[in-house]
Amino acid sequence: MAGSIVLFGPPGAGKGTQAGRISELTGKPQVSTGDMLRAAVSQGTQLGHEAKTFMDAGLLVPDSIIIGLISERLKDEDAVGGVLFDGFPRTIPQAEALAEIVSVEVVISMEVPDDSIVERIVGRRMDPQTGEIYHIKFKPPPEGVSMRVVQRKDDTEETVRSRLAAYHEQTAPLADWYSKRGLLMRIDGNGSIEDVGNAIASKL
Ligand code: ADP
Ligand code: ADP
Repeated sequence: MAGSIVLFGPPGAGKGTQAGRISELTGKPQVSTGDMLRAAVSQGTQLGHEAKTFMDAGLLVPDSIIIGLISERLKDEDAVGGVLFDGFPRTIPQAEALAEIVSVEVVISMEVPDDSIVERIVGRRMDPQTGEIYHIKFKPPPEGVSMRVVQRKDDTEETVRSRLAAYHEQTAPLADWYSKRGLLMRIDGNGSIEDVGNAIASKL
């Protein structure tokens, strides 16, 4: 399998926002564990039931569930040329499991301070028809779309605090882990959506 790319960063860093452009540039399909888990929850599958309690509390879903989900997804035909991981891996055991199944080409680390994260997450909205991500201040939905956008249940100020704590404790150490392997590419994620996209594109 050709190399995969990892989009890495705290919740709300802008991974999903930039994923489409990177996917287009590289031809690698986006694989978002968050989207896959939300789909399982809304379909009411066994896996969805198991994951939901953790997601609602802003905690990470156990590694065994996530690794199973990813192993299945990578069997799909479109994964042969490598994929763009969004929101995975989030723990060192997940990264170790991933290293056994694919080669990672580069890890794009989107660096955004905690203060911006809270504002980004609380203002996030999604168009349920297209999956497009908006923000009430930074990327307002156009007229006609604004009345149907929805807010994720876990995008509250309270849950963001747990998600950030989980990030700092369990996910942030992965930056060092990948850096030691020479794979980490740091990007300042605190500029405008366009500037961040250009910064990533110019380095790929
Ligand atoms: P965000 O993009 O805001 O960081 P995600 O959509 O990636 O949020 O994830 C939503 C929730 O799904 C997380 O808070 C966590 O509970 C769960 N989740 C997603 N990906 C993973 C993962 N790789 N490992 C563990 N839990 C995950
Ligand atoms: P992630 O996938 O990392 O959780 P998202 O891409 O969903 O993050 O972005 C979180 C929120 O922040 C969304 O509402 C999005 O519109 C907004 N956003 C993304 N990138 C930026 C940016 N560079 N500046 C301001 N807001 C942004």
